[in-house]
Amino acid sequence: MNTASNAVAARPLADEVIITLDHVDKYYGDFHVLRDVNLAVRSGERIVICGPSGSGKSTMIRCINQLEHHQKGRIVVDGVEVGHGHKSLDTVRREVGMVFQSFNLFPHLTVLQNCTLAPMKVRGMAAAEAREIAMKYLARVRIPDQANKYPGQLSGGQQQRVAIARALCMNPKVMLFDEPTSALDPEMVKEVLDTMIALAEDGMTMLCVTHEMGFARQVADRVIFMDKGEIIEQDAPEAFFANPRSERTRAFLGQIL
Ligand code: ADP
Ligand code: MG
Repeated sequence: MNTASNAVAARPLADEVIITLDHVDKYYGDFHVLRDVNLAVRSGERIVICGPSGSGKSTMIRCINQLEHHQKGRIVVDGVEVGHGHKSLDTVRREVGMVFQSFNLFPHLTVLQNCTLAPMKVRGMAAAEAREIAMKYLARVRIPDQANKYPGQLSGGQQQRVAIARALCMNPKVMLFDEPTSALDPEMVKEVLDTMIALAEDGMTMLCVTHEMGFARQVADRVIFMDKGEIIEQDAPEAFFANPRSERTRAFLGQIL
């Protein structure tokens, strides 16, 4: 079953670190949601994060791109410490692409307009160039023919591929995925995973929250297991799945595999 495992991951990693979390703690009121989280994502690295519902996976991703704010420790993205005014927000908007479970496309804009908006607004790109780039990425996710439709006219799998294309139009240095296939009907999961695998093959740095363990085996350099706000363990996929060290990881994998 697993003969082609990690075919995509077999290559050397750069030394450059693109995202650092250094002793990060976050609270929602009194609730301690992230507990001393430490993580360094190297350029070109592909990390899969898994763990039970409520373990803080989304919160961690959302702290990296500043949709949430941590209270203790440091988060550094592309050399800029996050949470310190406009410069870090600009850095995150430019360099970090984000794909959510619920697509989050603008319903009143066409697929093409969804893809050209941020490059024009944030990067100051001319409309013609933004359109050209958008069409290139819509072709990459294999839906150039949907460019002039509205999101509501597309299937869930198509909408999620638009969301990926939209993020790529900003030419990000790293892509964050938060359960990108969880809201999809089963027959559409593969088309989105195939798009993500193609991205991995292109060398994109990726931090993916997902429970698609076949994807993890195929593309991840590292699998991280979180529980109750902590990183419990992490390892290369072969070792992670063959020999989970913690009882909590074993219990979790027993439930989902
Ligand atoms: P996961 O993505 O691993 O399922 P989340 O990061 O979404 O976990 O949530 C972690 C915990 O924080 C959960 O107990 C959740 O209920 C809580 N939580 C998430 N967002 C908020 C919020 N905005 N305010 C208060 N509690 C929250
Ligand atoms: Mg979540």
